Amino acid sequence: MLRRRRTKLVATLGPASSNADMLAQLFQAGADVFRLNFSHGSHEDHGRNIDLIRDLEAKTKRPIGILADVQGPKLRVGRFMGGAIVLSPGQTFRLDLNPTPGDLTRANLPHPEIIGAAQIGSHLLLDDGKLKLRVTHVREDHVETVVVTGGRLSDRKGVNVPDVVLPIPALTKKDREDMAFALERGVEYIGLSFVQRPEDVMEAQEIIKGRAWVLSKLEKPQALDNLESILALSDAVMVARGDLGVELPPEEVPLAQKRIIRAARDLGKPVIVATQMLESMISAPTPTRAEASDVATAVYDGADAVMLSAETAAGQYPVEAVTIMDRIVGRVEKDADWRMQTDRRRPETEKSVSGAIATAARQVAQTIEASAIVALTNSGPTTLRVARERPTAPILCLTPHMETARRMALTWGVHATPAPVTHSMSETVQVAVQIARTEGISEPGQDIVIVAGMPFGKSGSTNALRVAKVTRTQISEPEFEDEVK
Ligand code: PGA
Ligand code: MN
Repeated sequence: MLRRRRTKLVATLGPASSNADMLAQLFQAGADVFRLNFSHGSHEDHGRNIDLIRDLEAKTKRPIGILADVQGPKLRVGRFMGGAIVLSPGQTFRLDLNPTPGDLTRANLPHPEIIGAAQIGSHLLLDDGKLKLRVTHVREDHVETVVVTGGRLSDRKGVNVPDVVLPIPALTKKDREDMAFALERGVEYIGLSFVQRPEDVMEAQEIIKGRAWVLSKLEKPQALDNLESILALSDAVMVARGDLGVELPPEEVPLAQKRIIRAARDLGKPVIVATQMLESMISAPTPTRAEASDVATAVYDGADAVMLSAETAAGQYPVEAVTIMDRIVGRVEKDADWRMQTDRRRPETEKSVSGAIATAARQVAQTIEASAIVALTNSGPTTLRVARERPTAPILCLTPHMETARRMALTWGVHATPAPVTHSMSETVQVAVQIARTEGISEPGQDIVIVAGMPFGKSGSTNALRVAKVTRTQISEPEFEDEVK
């Protein structure tokens, strides 16, 4: 199955989508990567979804990326009797350490750090800032508040405390357990929530040790102050607008989005734009005009991927949401102005052999109107460099490692597939031509541009560029295995 779309789609799984049939429908509709949100669900739930995704992958013969998004030091309220309450402005409301489910008068706030740091007059923002409380009394084990902005508050909603610096670690005990589980089961990316400093990313890299990409979620103003150093240590990033937009004034979010995308593209690191993209589709079959425009903007900005959260995890129209997102992205990518903007923002060629080859491949492919740029990659850098160029030709990534093919599911413009290791340029040309045909990317008579590193099969720098013509010779399809020998 070949998607012509360059910008990738990430769909979050949840109660609305955790079954084989729904997963297959979401994938068919366009989801390239599935996000498991470890803020919700048990290891058993996530494990079952991983199994279902791998089954789907085997059936469709398409590598699918899995993002294990760990909660980070996210502060949340506890549960409520009946699952939710409605708070009215002006009423008093207590937050305490008592784990009993809450009611109209109180809720559990299982974070002594907040209660310890809160001061009279400080504000607590609930559920992505939708509700606002003002602290009126601080006691040993609880705070009393008055509701400034009311609304519905349901189980385990987030709490932000913008006025107070909280002494909290980057990775919680739960995060470490969730990461160990996800890595054990095999996922492509670990999403780190509430990253504030480069040290937070370093700490995760030391635990993950290359077994997955480290994807830093940029959702704290502090992370924007350290953007360059955080990006340098991350393998990918997310513009996590949900929490970012709670602690930053709303007018700052679009600028932060553009700044993050530009910085990530400069380094050739995948960047996801996330949260509220088609929010109204949680309960409606069509998006608002503003939402359609928001998805389009992320594509014009040059994001690698756009993401759906509650729309696919808990909404009533998960398949419709992916379908519409796919249509919006596809439409933008047909706009001549999108291509012009993409070209205009192209970062400078990286001053290295690999960088020069990537730029050359894009130029050659454009000049001769090649049907594809075929990148041979061990662990991914060659393909990422080509993707950084945002070429007009599709990028076909061939790799001996299934995990690399899966990771590329997040990367702009890349169609990845496992392929055997080749030992010479002529063998490489043969394999590239054959797979370009069997994958439906190239037809006989068309040219492909191949970029590779020699000697073959070794990780290292890209140093070869070769143009080849796709011929009619039919060779049998390669095996689809975890590791193609
Ligand atoms: P979350 O992260 O959905 O895990 O909160 C994304 C965001 O904050 O935008
Ligand atoms: Mn968040």
